[in-house]
Amino acid sequence: MIQDRRPLMFFENKRNVANPAVVCKYCSKLARGGKPECVEHLSKRPYVATLMAEMLQHEKEERRVEKQGSRAVKLDGLHVSEILIELRMHGPKTVGGLVRNTQFSEVVVRACLQKMQRAKMVKIYRDMCGRPVAVLDQS
Ligand SMILES: [Zn+2]
Repeated sequence: MIQDRRPLMFFENKRNVANPAVVCKYCSKLARGGKPECVEHLSKRPYVATLMAEMLQHEKEERRVEKQGSRAVKLDGLHVSEILIELRMHGPKTVGGLVRNTQFSEVVVRACLQKMQRAKMVKIYRDMCGRPVAVLDQS
């Protein structure tokens, strides 16, 4: 293999003058798009690390609720807050509608609604087809 010994700056500047070459501080691969890290090390960025930690927490909460039911639901947790946002933005919703819009499993949505109903955050009624519908409890 023929090694081209011209510095990396040469190639990167030819491709994109506005974005001079930056080398990842963790592995010294080329970093692109004005980022200080390569794609593999993006997760080292504080913002990305925070996002990933949140997603991990979200998944843990989901597994706990799937195992333990509504008693594992945290009223100040991510699932309840997303369901509240849905109901605030779109009004009454069936369980199926909440499952579709939040992408949570039906088990998780039902467990959250149970706990939220006990805490008087939502009311549950049945629509004409007998499906449970959640609405914010305004009383
Ligand atoms: Zn890297």
